[in-house]
Amino acid sequence: GEGALRQAEFARPDLILLDVMMPPGINGFETCRRLKANETTKEIPVIFLTALADAIDKVKGIEAGGADYVTKPFEGLELLARIKTHLELSRYRKKLEQTNQELRQANEALLESRKQLELAAKTDPLTQLPNRREMLERIRYEKIRFERSQNVFTLALCDIDNFKQVNDTFGHDCGDFILVSIAGLIRSMIRKQDHLARWGGEEFLFAFPETDVKGGKVVCEKLRETITEHAYQYKNHTISITITFGLSVFGDYSMEIEECIKKADQALYRGKKHGKNCVVPFREEEK
Ligand code: GH3
Ligand code: MG
Ligand code: MG
Repeated sequence: GEGALRQAEFARPDLILLDVMMPPGINGFETCRRLKANETTKEIPVIFLTALADAIDKVKGIEAGGADYVTKPFEGLELLARIKTHLELSRYRKKLEQTNQELRQANEALLESRKQLELAAKTDPLTQLPNRREMLERIRYEKIRFERSQNVFTLALCDIDNFKQVNDTFGHDCGDFILVSIAGLIRSMIRKQDHLARWGGEEFLFAFPETDVKGGKVVCEKLRETITEHAYQYKNHTISITITFGLSVFGDYSMEIEECIKKADQALYRGKKHGKNCVVPFREEEK
């Protein structure tokens, strides 16, 4: 028995014919049990070939993991037929396992590409910021949070000043470079719970949870300063940028999200009219 275990592990045969009563050492049942407990040999089909013809021994053999049980004296043709059957079964099982493995891999690849697709559907390809659709989703979530906690949140819409001129002077690629630079700058400045999206061409929208207009103004002033003080290096040009912010607070149960965004936009428009490069909160009389 022990010798068989060693050899089986080494030679990995396709099939094993195993006696039960064997010279000193472990018997055939125990040998089979150990073969089945070993990762390298557990798939090898074992056919018991023994003089023990009692039903109870046959059951023992099957319980030990045997694939079949043939009693001595045996018919050569019958044994060969059984060997053939078990070799075929074993081949099918291996094939099935391989197919299963391939299916698992294909499934994983599918899940991965689905994840990437979902991410792409939420992301602006140029800046890698959340896009408009994703941002609306997040603001909807903030609205629900406001309704539960009564903590207001602030939206800030900003628009790069005279951006058309940047494109016209330095080229569209330079404009893209500046958009990406600004996205990186402002993303690194806001808190983890704040939301930021590319809202349009050269517009970004922020949502600051649990922040009133005073807090929103402070953050936006800081953002504006950072954006305007940064020197944008493109090829051999150093470019300066200014930006205008419009703010609106979400603090009214009857308010719609679109309405709040519109108010931020109106405030932004006033900022543009009054010389740009500033942070402007919405005023009711603006209506
Ligand atoms: P204002 O100060 O009033 O905002 O003036 P502006 O020139 O920034 O605004 P305008 O609306 O006249 O022009 C916006 C420009 O932004 C025009 C458009 O070509 C540019 N733009 C929009 N999206 C992109 C983009 O993805 N890449 C580049 N490079 N430019 C863009
Ligand atoms: Mg602009
Ligand atoms: Mg614009």
